[in-house]
Amino acid sequence: MRETIAWLGGEPLFATPLRIVRPAFPAVEDLVSDLETILDSGRVTNNGPFVVEFERWLSEYLGADTLVFCNGQTALLTMLKASGIEGGEVIVPAFTFPATVHAIRWSGAAPVFADILDDGTFRINPDDVRRKITDKTVAILAVDPYGIACDYADLDEIGRDRRIRVLYDSAAAFGTRLGGRAVGAFGDAQIFSFHATKAFSCMEGGALCSRDPTILRRARALRNFGQVAEGDFSEVGLNGKMMEVSALIGLKQRSGFESSRTVRLRSVARLREGLETIPGILVGKAPRGQEPIWLYLPVVIDEEAFGLDRDDVAAALQKENLHVRKYYSPPCHRLAPYLGHRDDLLPVTDYVASRILALPVYNDMKDYECDLIVQAFAELHAASAKISRLSSRDV
Ligand SMILES: *Cc1c(COP(=O)(O)O)cnc(C)c1O
Repeated sequence: MRETIAWLGGEPLFATPLRIVRPAFPAVEDLVSDLETILDSGRVTNNGPFVVEFERWLSEYLGADTLVFCNGQTALLTMLKASGIEGGEVIVPAFTFPATVHAIRWSGAAPVFADILDDGTFRINPDDVRRKITDKTVAILAVDPYGIACDYADLDEIGRDRRIRVLYDSAAAFGTRLGGRAVGAFGDAQIFSFHATKAFSCMEGGALCSRDPTILRRARALRNFGQVAEGDFSEVGLNGKMMEVSALIGLKQRSGFESSRTVRLRSVARLREGLETIPGILVGKAPRGQEPIWLYLPVVIDEEAFGLDRDDVAAALQKENLHVRKYYSPPCHRLAPYLGHRDDLLPVTDYVASRILALPVYNDMKDYECDLIVQAFAELHAASAKISRLSSRDV
């Protein structure tokens, strides 16, 4: 047992750092033979057989036709353009990774920020979305924060009522289950990321899933420089193609993903059980009937009850070799490109963003790692009275 926490001079709780992500890739032996096939064939990109097979599997898994991309952000840009978004206003949460809002600006539209729900799920508030709709609104771009699926049913209904597009940045939510099946075919279209930091990874990669044949047709052309047939460029496209090697890595992730998903759920349950006994920690929740992939476990730190504020907690955990992140802080309406925006009254977003911490959750997380994370918070809380007048940032 340590005498004291690392902040006060004790040994760090984690001998080797617990990083914010720990990607788990297939073993080299499992890749070699297919890699040789790809290299020997010379077909390393341009819709090769591995991409075709990966898209076939994804379409089945997600329950609607799916196209793959070189990364999630390109899938997002393509989704907006293929949905006809070129101007007007798009309603979006400010509590998201900035990529979401950047995509709106890149498309030529203006982001209008909506607040999030005050129920521990960090999802966009459908009532605030309704309030923010004007005659300029062309779309809602909702987000699944940390892989927690937003209220698709309600948002889809708003879209139908108001005749606007409903699009989902589900970059973090690949593998999230709703009513027993993977989310994927909601709204007009939905995108996912397979970045190295995500739970299902191609190193870099993304996907667009839709039931709308027009969106799919346009997205397919946009992904390939706007080409619909040889020499026929009907769209102002880009290069959004996925490489064969990325598709191969994606295909190899399939077999282990279900057990990774289970490990993530079990780890979050274990973390929750421990963390909820500590005063001043609100652990992020999933709505009923949903199994998020839990890209991270979000917790909100109440300074008064816990004894330290979020920034001190993050700094103290860093000294324990426990790397946490302040996702999504600052919220997008506080970032330079979006300052002075007319919709900056977002009380829940501001409250949460100044208190949030994202804790690591891994595909291969161990129970003892969960227990040490809980211990780190418990010991910090116990020591908080002693150190409340110090600031770890000055130590
Ligand atoms: C990861 C992420 C993206 C970007 O995806 P990339 O594959 O890294 O381009 C966009 N939006 C959200 C919410 C994300 O979490």
